[in-house]
Amino acid sequence: MRFNDAPVAIVRQLVNNGFEAYIVGGAVRDMLLEKQPKDYDITTNATPEEVRRVFGRRKCRLIGKRFRLALVFWDGETYEVSTFRKEPNHIERRGRPTDKGEMIWNDNVFGTLEDDVRRRDFTANALYYDVNTDEIIDMINGMEDIKTRVVRCIGVPATRFMEDPVRMLRALKLVGQHQFKMRENIRKAIVEKAALIQEASPARLFEELQKILNTDSALPIFEACQENGFLKYFCPMLSTLWETPGGELIRALLKQHDDCIDHEKNYFKEKSLPMSLMALPYLLSVIDMDEVSRHVNVVANQDACAKAIHTFFLTFNMPKEMLYDIRDIVMLLPEMAALHNLDKVRNNPVYPLAYEVFRLLTMANGWMADAFAELPLPNDVSQWQEQATREIEEDSLQTQQPKRPRRRRRPAKRKKTAAETPAQPTNDSLDSTDNE
Ligand code: ATP
Ligand code: MG
Repeated sequence: MRFNDAPVAIVRQLVNNGFEAYIVGGAVRDMLLEKQPKDYDITTNATPEEVRRVFGRRKCRLIGKRFRLALVFWDGETYEVSTFRKEPNHIERRGRPTDKGEMIWNDNVFGTLEDDVRRRDFTANALYYDVNTDEIIDMINGMEDIKTRVVRCIGVPATRFMEDPVRMLRALKLVGQHQFKMRENIRKAIVEKAALIQEASPARLFEELQKILNTDSALPIFEACQENGFLKYFCPMLSTLWETPGGELIRALLKQHDDCIDHEKNYFKEKSLPMSLMALPYLLSVIDMDEVSRHVNVVANQDACAKAIHTFFLTFNMPKEMLYDIRDIVMLLPEMAALHNLDKVRNNPVYPLAYEVFRLLTMANGWMADAFAELPLPNDVSQWQEQATREIEEDSLQTQQPKRPRRRRRPAKRKKTAAETPAQPTNDSLDSTDNE
């Protein structure tokens, strides 16, 4: 396993222009855990403006207020390049009028590499890879903590969590996603300070939620949140439901979602899909499925569903378009389950997503498997399948003499592709991140 070419090239370009630069954070951690990094962070002693001068305006854009950084565009991907920072002091923090000066609202005080190590959250995330010497700079024993998978704060946990409550979630992600263990002082600090997560901005929390749902470990991450008394503040409805039959179904759905991310190359990357899954049992409980399947009281049911989505995701700043997508997905399910109006239903723009939600429901607990088998494939899937059928036919035609006129087969209505075949839940799939 090795780092991708693009981040290495970006670091080289900065170094060739006389700056210090490293690959840092999650990518170095993941590499040491023998997992291919998905995202790269680069750090340098160049200021954001200097980074822009090195790469030019077309390849670099400066963003952020609380945390100013440069985005570098390379080979169709975007890379974050941050300047070495030091922890801001009391005056530099410039908190809100109501703040006691504990929370960091502005983190733009630049510093040295040593300062930068100190301001990072955990030892496992504070390793710097030098692309020229092929060495890792480790000033805080982070390599050992990665080897033994221990979450260790840089600084005093309670203070660090008060400065930025999202760090608690980041610790729980190490536990859920990478099977780290928390030292007791960190666990205690999380239990004590968990409520502070409510003070983080809803937009940032929404971003964090999306990142969790984009890993192949959403279930174990939420589990770690629930076990440490954090979920009730981060996503209160999910926490309340956790032990109920609805919560059991949510967990089964999240497990399917994690498995699909891990194993299915063509799995939908639409963000509203996992969001629908985590709220689904609750949303289905507030609408009258029978009415919706018969197109009775549609508006009232739609409103109830939208309100329930708002309530479920109250702590996040969910964009309206996503809320409506989720509502429309949920409102299609009763008709699909009853096999009503399928010609109309299949033309609904969210049908491919509703079909996917139905598939995961069927995989999670066998829900309406018979009805699912009758559902038309969404257009894009059937087109893909038609193409595959054509390729098979063309292959066989090449070997047939004399040539016969080509007969276009109808796409098989219910034959599932390999990618679609439900992977039955297995007990060990929670540990699948270990096997990458
Ligand atoms: P992922 O695999 O999710 O990208 P990551 O650790 O790389 O994990 P990023 O959000 O990409 O997470 O952050 C990059 C690095 O920035 C982290 O590894 C850590 O060193 C530092 N960092 C991120 N968020 C914080 C924070 N809230 N407080 C201190 N340091 C942070
Ligand atoms: Mg990262």
